Amino acid sequence: MRQVVLPYTKADGKLYLQALEWPEKCACCGAEATEHNTLTHRAEGTGGDGSTYYDLNWSVPYCRACLKHAKLMSAINIVLIVGGILLWVGIGYGLFLMGLAENIFAIGAFILALPILGFIGYRLRKLIYHLLASTTPNCTHEGYAIDVTSSGTQQQVKLTFFNDDYASAFISLNQLQYISK
Ligand SMILES: [Zn+2]
Ligand SMILES: [Zn+2]
Repeated sequence: MRQVVLPYTKADGKLYLQALEWPEKCACCGAEATEHNTLTHRAEGTGGDGSTYYDLNWSVPYCRACLKHAKLMSAINIVLIVGGILLWVGIGYGLFLMGLAENIFAIGAFILALPILGFIGYRLRKLIYHLLASTTPNCTHEGYAIDVTSSGTQQQVKLTFFNDDYASAFISLNQLQYISK
C-alpha cells in the first residue's frame, strides 16, 4: 500500500489541484485496462470567503474482472452494514418486547451482539469474495484499488494505492515528489 499526498489551494472560489494522469493499466492487478471507473471525492476548500466543498473526479483504468469484483465488494459492504445494523436494532427491539429493557444481562447481550455481528459480517464478506468475486491472481485489493481522503485544514488530498507498482508508475507519470508509506 502506498500513499500520495497532493496539496491544493483555493483561490477566487476555485480549487486548484494538479491535473492527474493515470497509467493505462489496471489499478488493481496491473493487467491491460479495458474499462474505466470514475473515482469521486468531495474536498473542502478553506480560506477567503470561508469553506466550500468541491467535487473532484478522476477516470481510473481497470481490467474487466477487477472492475467487476470492486463493484461487487462495494455493493456487498453496503448490504452487510445496513443488514447488520437492522439486525442489531431488531435484537434490541426483541429484548424490549420481552420486557428485558432494564435487565442487565439483556443489555450486556445487546452490547456484545454488535462486535459479534461485525465479526460474522467480516467472515461473510471474505466468503463472498472467495466464492463470487471475479479476481485475477495479481489482484491487490478486494474493493476499488484506490482510496481518496482529504483534509480541509491541511488543504491536501491523499490517494491510497493498494497496488505498489501502479503507485510507482503513477508517481513517475505525474512527476510527484510527495510520497509516504
Ligand atoms: Zn485487473
Ligand atoms: Zn482485482
